[in-house]
Amino acid sequence: MERPKILHIDISLVDNAVTLWQKGGLVAMPTETVYGLGADATNGEAVARIYSVKSRPQFNPLIIHVADARAACRYVEWNDTADLLADAFWPGPLTMVLKRRPRSRISELVSAGGETLAVRVPSHPVAQQLLQAFNGAIAAPSANRSGRVSPTTAEHVREELAGDMPLIIDGGACEVGLESTVLDVSGEHPVILRSGSVTQEMIEKVLGKKLATQHTPVAPNNAAHKSPGQLESHYAPSIQVRLNASNVAADEALLAFGAAPLTGAGKTLNLSPSGNLIEAAANLFAYMRALDDTKFRAIAVMPIPNEGIGIAINDRLQRAGAPR
Ligand code: AMP
Ligand code: MG
Repeated sequence: MERPKILHIDISLVDNAVTLWQKGGLVAMPTETVYGLGADATNGEAVARIYSVKSRPQFNPLIIHVADARAACRYVEWNDTADLLADAFWPGPLTMVLKRRPRSRISELVSAGGETLAVRVPSHPVAQQLLQAFNGAIAAPSANRSGRVSPTTAEHVREELAGDMPLIIDGGACEVGLESTVLDVSGEHPVILRSGSVTQEMIEKVLGKKLATQHTPVAPNNAAHKSPGQLESHYAPSIQVRLNASNVAADEALLAFGAAPLTGAGKTLNLSPSGNLIEAAANLFAYMRALDDTKFRAIAVMPIPNEGIGIAINDRLQRAGAPR
């Protein structure tokens, strides 16, 4: 791929970004917090490419970015708390975690298989311009390789991701320069999952009450110890999961991979008949769910190459297969 261009925003550039997103491509965009690595949140393979480009070893859930609260309501189950907080802090650096709407078109990979979705309305004028034009939801983690600091200029993004990004949109240096505050408002009591520039005090003032549990403040770039992949809310099949299967029984369901799926299973879904790991990642959560049927004794899973995004796939499968 040729050297990515860093460009200032004009209408043709907005069109360019929107077209790339519609085709399943990745575009780096400025927000007031940090630069985001954005993809159409309804396109599973595009979302899988985010993890691949970042070399993330785990499927941590991603934040979706939308133009306004009305757009957010299309994807999540809105509630009064969310309404109050959106009025006070959106557009701005507050991310709210809410329940996914049933039959939401957002890829399950965005929620890492969970029941919730994190959503934010950025205030950066360029992000606003892009999101309004796209008129959908953009999944975007910070535009850096896994384990590196979040980029706050377009040049940082290019240094990090050159070669993998067809388009990096330059909106100048990020004003906040710190990741958004993440607040879980999906339950009865709002809980801060990650601290940011919208503080607990600011939230309590708007809600007119103290937040229930005081969470240990988490350094913005070090959320590792509360990795959402380990949260209970994350999807674990109700039947056994048997990894690295080299044979399969008739009372098992088979999660296959590659051109030569095992035969003899009660039901088979192939993550990628062509052996493409991006396609496999995009299908992973939906297929696990579809095979999770108590009429089967277990889900047998064929070996997945442990390279690239295969590492995150195997991490997730190992957790699903861990003794419970
Ligand atoms: P980043 O990928 O760097 O933008 O960080 C996203 C942050 O949002 C991480 O701390 C995630 O744990 C958090 N997050 C995203 N989606 C969810 C969710 N559904 N539930 C809980 N936390 C979430
Ligand atoms: Mg990050």
